[in-house]
Amino acid sequence: MNMQDLPPALALAFECQRAALAAAPAPDWATRADRLQRLQHLLADAEPALIQAIDADFGGRPAIETELAEVWPSLEAVKGALRHGRRWMAPRKAGVAKWFIPARAEVLPQPLGVVGIIVPWNYPLYLTIGPLAAALVAGNRVMIKLSELTPAYSALMSQLVTQSFSADELCIVTGGADVAAQFASLPFNHLLFTGSTPVGRKVMAAAAANLTPVTLELGGKSPAVVTPGYPLAHAAQRIVAAKLLNAGQTCIAPDYVLLPRDQIQPFVEAAQASARSGYPAGLDDADFCSIINTRHQQRLVADLDEAAARGTVIEPLFEGPQRDDARHRIAPALLIDPPADCGVMRDEIFGPLLPIVPYDRVEDAMAYVNARPHPLALYWFDRDAKRTALALRTLPAGGVTVNDTLLHIAQEDLPFGGVGASGMGHYHGQWGFDTFSKLMPVFHQARANGMSLFLPPYSATMRQMLALMKRF
Ligand code: NAD
Repeated sequence: MNMQDLPPALALAFECQRAALAAAPAPDWATRADRLQRLQHLLADAEPALIQAIDADFGGRPAIETELAEVWPSLEAVKGALRHGRRWMAPRKAGVAKWFIPARAEVLPQPLGVVGIIVPWNYPLYLTIGPLAAALVAGNRVMIKLSELTPAYSALMSQLVTQSFSADELCIVTGGADVAAQFASLPFNHLLFTGSTPVGRKVMAAAAANLTPVTLELGGKSPAVVTPGYPLAHAAQRIVAAKLLNAGQTCIAPDYVLLPRDQIQPFVEAAQASARSGYPAGLDDADFCSIINTRHQQRLVADLDEAAARGTVIEPLFEGPQRDDARHRIAPALLIDPPADCGVMRDEIFGPLLPIVPYDRVEDAMAYVNARPHPLALYWFDRDAKRTALALRTLPAGGVTVNDTLLHIAQEDLPFGGVGASGMGHYHGQWGFDTFSKLMPVFHQARANGMSLFLPPYSATMRQMLALMKRF
């Protein structure tokens, strides 16, 4: 899509950022810190309103979940950038090959320019602020497209950003999938997309037309593998906790569990005990989240009905009502060994349904994971260090938490991102700074150097020198 074919307001917003970039291409630390501080204040001042807006978009998202899984990690990302950004942006000393001494070399991080960020609906705040903090600390100008499925949050965030930032520093774009597609076709210097794998493919195709580099933070089916002998009560508690957070609408939620065949019944009981003690009021529990909208509720209900109709045993995790279509809520359930071609086994579930896949030998479980598209996350429950090391060496995944769930995402020092079908590139901490920077290699020639030896016509001395260089 050419710039002339884009809606004038979108093209203008982009041109305005590009002009500001040309006028001030390399913001100093004070400018970057000021932007990050404004972001920090925005979060602190608007926290209650943001929580309320997200609650309204979900039709019931517990405030504590938004605080824990969105506000806190967002603040961590901004504070980390403020704490370390000056060091990240400093030139990084690099070695020079011995033949070039006394020259010197360095890697100089430069802002990429105008970057785009596309945000999904499931953690709308954290998936705005996390990438944004990384893009700002790296000195970029930023345009963000928010999800059409979070209209209250998107309207509030647009208003807050307009109050705290000039449009040439940071600008929010709202609208449907058509606007998102136009947004992805802007000639950004980098585009970070968080969302589904099918839409990720479209984003990459649109970016390719401009040779815009992409970071794709996608989804997929993330397995939890419980190995023989691992304490089941602990594994069940950690897996249930991760699956019920945000009612399973989490990119790194365990999508299915690989379990030793003889452990299914004890796992079911442990999972039920854990879910019922955590959410005593079941579907009406104040700590349980609604499904984002009726369409997604219907998708999950259809998946559950399909598995049941095909003879899958369904083990409910809550007592009492299992569905509330008016509030788009669905109770969590374990699905015991559903047919491989069922919806729940084919597509990312993104809800509180959890298939259990029995296995006979750990090697079979590993082969099962290996035979499928690379997942965004892997949860490996094991007390055997040698077997764990083997799993970590041989199973591909975007990220891994061993003997727990979700927590690798909360480590700012770990790169966060997918692999294969679950995405490409990464961010968080300095990894995010580097993603949004051009790490420019610079070679500084010394006054005294031997380059004149290497000019044609090539001398005998040069030939001897080259022979020496080839030997050492
Ligand atoms: P989605 O792919 O449907 O939409 C994501 C965003 O893309 C939305 O803002 C939408 O407006 C936009 N979009 C739609 N069509 C587009 C197009 N043609 N070009 C550009 N943008 C377009 O995803 P979703 O339903 O909002 O989110 C759920 C998915 O996101 C799940 O697959 C989940 O695993 C994944 N996810 C991944 C991460 C991660 O960090 N890897 C985090 C959260 C969610």
